[in-house]
Amino acid sequence: MTAAIDIKGWCPGARRPMPSGDGLIVRVRPHGGALTVVALRALAEAASRFGNGQIDLTRRANLQIRGVSSETLMPLWELMASLELLDDSAEAEAIRNIVINPLAGLDPAEIIDMRPVAAALELQLAADEELRALPAKFGFALDGGGRLALAALAADVRLAAFFQDQQCRIALGLGHADAVTWLGTVTFPQAAAAAVKVARGALHYSPTKRAAALSPDAITAIATELGLEASVAIAPSPSSGVTSRQRQGVIVLTDETCAVGLGAPFGHVDSDALARLAALLVASDVSEVRLSPWRTLYVAARPDVAEQLVADAAELGLIVDDADPLLRVDACSGSGCCPSTRLATREHARMLAGDIARTRFPGTLHVSGCAKGCARSAAADLVLVGEDDQYCIVRNGTAKSEPSGVLDPADIGLTSHRLFRSRESVHV
Ligand code: SF4
Repeated sequence: MTAAIDIKGWCPGARRPMPSGDGLIVRVRPHGGALTVVALRALAEAASRFGNGQIDLTRRANLQIRGVSSETLMPLWELMASLELLDDSAEAEAIRNIVINPLAGLDPAEIIDMRPVAAALELQLAADEELRALPAKFGFALDGGGRLALAALAADVRLAAFFQDQQCRIALGLGHADAVTWLGTVTFPQAAAAAVKVARGALHYSPTKRAAALSPDAITAIATELGLEASVAIAPSPSSGVTSRQRQGVIVLTDETCAVGLGAPFGHVDSDALARLAALLVASDVSEVRLSPWRTLYVAARPDVAEQLVADAAELGLIVDDADPLLRVDACSGSGCCPSTRLATREHARMLAGDIARTRFPGTLHVSGCAKGCARSAAADLVLVGEDDQYCIVRNGTAKSEPSGVLDPADIGLTSHRLFRSRESVHV
């Protein structure tokens, strides 16, 4: 049986997969940012059975199965439905764009466990059909604070826990550019409904239906409708005093519990490695995996198994150290996955990561198969942009910026270290 595919947008879903050079991309949106290890294993196996075995972790804390065909989409949907990971429609799925802290409910330093708010928000969004007119990228960030806060995550609607007058409070804000306009504070029971009302306000007042395009008058109107005062000064950012810069490896939570952060290089992991990770987690008595917007998986583990888990995950190719230069490298899927390039971008990026370590280059690298720059929209210190069979070199820019030189891929590993030492225009 062949599934009827509704391919309309460029933002993939499960009900609305996105065609790519290697087949359909099917996005899985875990509820509350969590998957059981059983579900993780089933999805890893599904990625090789129904796709090409390639899996992406996204910056919205989702997981994508690549290389799915119109014939294998239906059995993949059936599997996702059995795991309660398939929405009724593409529209209901698209609005369920919620990110919460990956250590919610695990981190003793968090201010508020946002999981109940996320669950309530999911239900209310699903019930409000009007909100399905919001753009696919309209998103919610629910930041309960703690070690892995979400202060840097862009979102249209933000709920952020903070301390004030020795009480836990939740600030409600609208995201635009790199800033947030705080509308006021809401109580824990009010939080989900208030976020929905703000989304409805963006739908009605914003010319783009995104929070960033709301005028000051529109923001005031939304705040007034909520009984809040948009001019109230709120500073909800990391207020527990324990926000950690550590994201990979063992993060001690209590005497009895650690979090283990396992990063996916370039946000990519293959189905075999993910299935083997799931088996390791089962053997370590871990039952749940959390996804994060920085493409690192988190699990809670006893201290006596956490170090071994890290060592085993490193063997699988996962990132377990914040000093790993791969964390500063973005690369798109490249040849074999995308018809827009003949360049093996990820293979080249891995080789260049070695040069980053050797030259102690402190910046960021983006290796892009073409000027579309799918892997990174923000500027990077060094960008290699594929053009035919070579790379154009951009410094301090994006894949669309003016290049200052060229790099022959055949020279990677031979002379490419010069790239990380020179700040001038260069041909290597
Ligand atoms: S940046 Fe270009 S080559 Fe890379 S995935 Fe996007 S379209 Fe394909």
